[in-house]
Amino acid sequence: MKLGAGARPWKWVRRAAQATVVVIIGWLGYRHTLLGGGAGGSAPLDAFCPFGAIETLPSLLTTGTFLKKTAISGFIVLGAVVGATMVGRASFCGWLCPLGTVVEWVHRAARFLARVAGGIPGAGRLGKAASRWGARRARRGAWLRSERGRAWDRRLRYLRYGVLALILATTFTGGRLVFEAYDPFKAVFHFQIETALTLGVLVLLLVTSLLVERFWCRYLCPLGAVVSLGSRLSPAGVTRDSGACTDCGRCDAACGMGIDVSHVERVTSGQCSLCGDCTDACPVEGALHTTWSAPAGGGHAARRLLGAAPDRIRRGFASAGSGARPAMAVILFAAVIAGSMATGAWQTRAEAGGGAGAGSEAVVGSDHEGESLPTDGSAQATEIKGRMTVREVADAFHADPVEVLAALGAPPDTDQGLSVKAVAGTYGGSVDDLRAWLGSGVVPPAP
Ligand code: SF4
Ligand code: SF4
Repeated sequence: MKLGAGARPWKWVRRAAQATVVVIIGWLGYRHTLLGGGAGGSAPLDAFCPFGAIETLPSLLTTGTFLKKTAISGFIVLGAVVGATMVGRASFCGWLCPLGTVVEWVHRAARFLARVAGGIPGAGRLGKAASRWGARRARRGAWLRSERGRAWDRRLRYLRYGVLALILATTFTGGRLVFEAYDPFKAVFHFQIETALTLGVLVLLLVTSLLVERFWCRYLCPLGAVVSLGSRLSPAGVTRDSGACTDCGRCDAACGMGIDVSHVERVTSGQCSLCGDCTDACPVEGALHTTWSAPAGGGHAARRLLGAAPDRIRRGFASAGSGARPAMAVILFAAVIAGSMATGAWQTRAEAGGGAGAGSEAVVGSDHEGESLPTDGSAQATEIKGRMTVREVADAFHADPVEVLAALGAPPDTDQGLSVKAVAGTYGGSVDDLRAWLGSGVVPPAP
């Protein structure tokens, strides 16, 4: 079955899956930024990120403790990613990853604008800029598909493994999530630009996404590097019938991951997400399709897994339509997370003595829900968390809540039950400034 006109519905299924994850992660990020990590808020995004689990794994294996902000939920998502990868190649990247979706949307929105700019009345300078961008994009695309461009592209893709190794090494030696300050996932989904570094990361992400579709995914993403290694074991893949193929090259131009589809019999790249864009673009019925068979070389595990599956499951996988395979991966992903929630295994906060397994005595700097400041005068400004309320902080430092509000840039009648992070976010203040002020020792006592 060809993924051409008949497969268009899968395109919309993919978009719906991408949009759903973006909305869920966006909501979690917004709640964490606005309300903090307390009962009313949401755990840090690292707790939902499969890469957070990879970062904390060395610490967990050697000391039995989670790194701050990570939790068992990250490992559950990581397990779901592994399952989805075995069923549908790098379908996580093309169908689920919220950051991958955002960078894809940025590029495609610009491409759409470039296409229609001429027809928008009054588009003026913006229209001209979009048209120029479109022309440059076409030239860049052609160069990237040239022999020289492909050679550069191949070399640059190794950068992902370097980024992965660097992050794991520095995280392990530093005992904390060193990468979080540079992490574009957090920069995007925190909805708050607190530092110049965050702004720089966002600008770079935007510029590179406009230059090359999925630049981050192709060349830099450390999670993508892990996914693409596992993806090679998946029996699902795009195959080309060289007899039917007319070498028009439309599949190459359509692939957002820049994979050379038109020169291979089967796409072996670990970065193929089974998005279906190449098969959709192919004008020849039957020339390109997604198949389910163990890949030659490196496919032994997949072959064995497939061979061990009950007959009905095997037949089901083999006969399912092209888009159905990554859709199965998405369903498996969702089922793993839903199952963990239903069974109570889903925990977004690591708990002392638990989560990390038997013998785990402490969680390194974990974001405990119940953590609160002492009120006996021993509270330290560095212990203030964004999720703590204005009243709680004022009580702990025996300070006037109105002065605390003022330090956050808020008017005196602001609700003192709000978190300091929410107040700072609303009125342009900063929790760091509040810490500095309370730590300075010149705080006027409460009336
Ligand atoms: S390469 Fe990374 S950012 Fe891109 S889709 Fe995959 S995991 Fe997400
Ligand atoms: S090769 Fe085809 S299915 Fe794979 S990522 Fe590229 S466009 Fe998508």
